[in-house]
Amino acid sequence: HRERLQEIAHVPSMTQDRKQVRLAANISSIKEIDQVLKNGAVGVGLFRSEFLYMDRDSLPDEEEQTEVYKQAAVKLDGRPLIIRTLDIGGDKKLDYLPLQVEENPALGCRAIRISLDRRELFKTQLRAILRASHFGQVKLMYPMISSLGELREANALLAEAKQELKSRGKPFNPDIEVGLTIEVPGAALIADVLAKEVDFFSIGTNDLIQFVLAVDRMNDSIAHLYNPYHPAVIRLLKLTIDAAKAAGIPVAVCGEFAGDIRALPLWLGLGIEELSMSVQLILPIKHRLLTSNHAECERLLQEVLQCGTSEEIEQVLRQADSRSS
Ligand code: PEP
Ligand code: MG
Repeated sequence: HRERLQEIAHVPSMTQDRKQVRLAANISSIKEIDQVLKNGAVGVGLFRSEFLYMDRDSLPDEEEQTEVYKQAAVKLDGRPLIIRTLDIGGDKKLDYLPLQVEENPALGCRAIRISLDRRELFKTQLRAILRASHFGQVKLMYPMISSLGELREANALLAEAKQELKSRGKPFNPDIEVGLTIEVPGAALIADVLAKEVDFFSIGTNDLIQFVLAVDRMNDSIAHLYNPYHPAVIRLLKLTIDAAKAAGIPVAVCGEFAGDIRALPLWLGLGIEELSMSVQLILPIKHRLLTSNHAECERLLQEVLQCGTSEEIEQVLRQADSRSS
């Protein structure tokens, strides 16, 4: 089966009625890039840069980070590489960077909050990403933004980082695209405002679902409540996607939900044009995409939006699935 799937790696990624959907990869190491290319992904939609900081005993410096990001950009040979800035705290810890013990780490000092708190650490990473942008189509993405103020603060540090490189005579792409992940419900609710000041969105459903349903994604005893098909999740996704489209910026999905084969009709109905997922999910999702019908998914979405429960939504999607296969 795997061999047969491999045959579709380089055919155009579109539905039967020719709606294109770009399939990108989530990676946490540059070793995965060979597979990204082999599976015909359009590029990297999420490089989880924190893995560069983990399993070691000190922070990676600017040179070391630049080297890794540059290697990734070069290997991708002009394909997009979205580097998400450090996303630690919550479930991800660094031994050499002591963080406060918190009662609610998922709601605590993590991701962009740490970066805005430790400005030198953040600027070091920004300079490394900028330097790599000279060697390929590198884009920058901030995790866990929850307000316009945070976005502006991050961008002010980015401007400083650019200035510093300029005065050191280091080349970089001054027009590097900057995006953010929508993973805090508050950010989704002001997506129209945020969209005016970024180049793209990527929806991080893993955290978005945990926050909108108030269900800890790491807690097995309530895992049954962690339901991506909850109508509240679907509404928030629609709000975000519609806001991005109204502002004319691209919106992708990079959480695990993007690689859920049952959700594909939902993404098509919502008008998503890019999904980013684990490398091994790209071909199975593509296989399903090639037999899908976009217009039918748009009709299906209208039904989904009428549903009051996740069971009803899953039922609608199951019926669609049995019609198309
Ligand atoms: C997400 O929250 O959906 C996401 C992609 O980020 P992570 O899983 O790394 O928190
Ligand atoms: Mg997240």
